[in-house]
Amino acid sequence: MMNRRTFLGGAATGVLSTVAFGGEPGASPEYQGPNVILIRFGGGVRRQESIAPDAEFAPYLKHIMAPQGVLFPLMEIANRPGLQTSHGEGTLNILTGKYDVYKDVDQRFLGARFEAKVPTVFEGLRKSYNVPTHQALIINGEDRLDEEFYSFSNHHLFGVDYRSSVLSLYRFKVHILRRGLAEGLYQGKEEQSKREELAKLEAVDIRSRGVDPTCPEIDRFWDDWSGYYGRSGFVNPRGDRLLAELAVQAMAKLRPRLMMINFNDPDYVHWGNKAHYTLGVTIVDESLRKVHEFSQIDPFYRDNTIFLVVPDCGRDNNPVVSVPFQHHFNSRSARQIFALAWGPGIDRGRVVDRPVEQCQVARTAAAAMRFELEEAEGLALEEVFV
Ligand SMILES: [Zn+2]
Repeated sequence: MMNRRTFLGGAATGVLSTVAFGGEPGASPEYQGPNVILIRFGGGVRRQESIAPDAEFAPYLKHIMAPQGVLFPLMEIANRPGLQTSHGEGTLNILTGKYDVYKDVDQRFLGARFEAKVPTVFEGLRKSYNVPTHQALIINGEDRLDEEFYSFSNHHLFGVDYRSSVLSLYRFKVHILRRGLAEGLYQGKEEQSKREELAKLEAVDIRSRGVDPTCPEIDRFWDDWSGYYGRSGFVNPRGDRLLAELAVQAMAKLRPRLMMINFNDPDYVHWGNKAHYTLGVTIVDESLRKVHEFSQIDPFYRDNTIFLVVPDCGRDNNPVVSVPFQHHFNSRSARQIFALAWGPGIDRGRVVDRPVEQCQVARTAAAAMRFELEEAEGLALEEVFV
């Protein structure tokens, strides 16, 4: 059981750094704590369709996991000037534990190319412990290129050396092109066009330039994936089912200690079809089930894995339009989310009826893994650990 002081924030910093660094500068200890799986229950899911008493679209979350864990049904995203309730922002709130006003750093794309100013939970873990990059994983959707690059902050003490690895169809396409070109698979005009395609894909990643992107473990993972699904990227499952499949295969082969899965299917409701939302919530719930069930049969994860489930943001509740939850424009409902903590050492069947903040999730993950995330706002969710 965890000492209360280790998760309550700054007071424990001195104690923790002795533990984390073993008193030897430069030598990080092996990580021996529980694995943590962060589930972004997105993109944009309200309480009404997930955990509310009459909600019926996430039965696994609501009826199987919540009764075995600690549920925070009153989690919110802070209402502060400039803060947006959207996917990039919410993901960074979860990753860094700090609310911030983000600006797109690359004007070539209209989107959410943001840079965190404070370390992500992945950077904190890798700075405190000897955890290789392939065991600190983010699983991303195929059409969220902006979010590919949240894998490290621009904080001067952290950053790219402590980054997480990302698994996504974008990374797969890059791998396949690099591999094919290195093996001389293409000739003449085809080779030229493949080189251009790769250069275009690599140019999207403005942040990692100069950093060797290869990792033998991840390369092997993609080689296995292409051996099974082929090289096209179109035979495998799509959308959030793909994320679940990537996550389970990554657990089996890469053994991530910390993994975040950025589910997103419910967000297709932006196009205006109500059913896309509720179906999306159900697909995320089924995907959560798949990952959770795998964690209980695999010896590396069984009895040693904590799940933290939290949406990136909620959605509007606008009664004057035909799809009240079509968007998430900083309304009260878009700030109202929830969180669930599940795992060994965590209370079962507890519902915490006080308001808590989305920014507290990062420090909660850090506390579970016994390191400090000094730049995060708020405290770890203490009910998780009693
Ligand atoms: Zn959206």
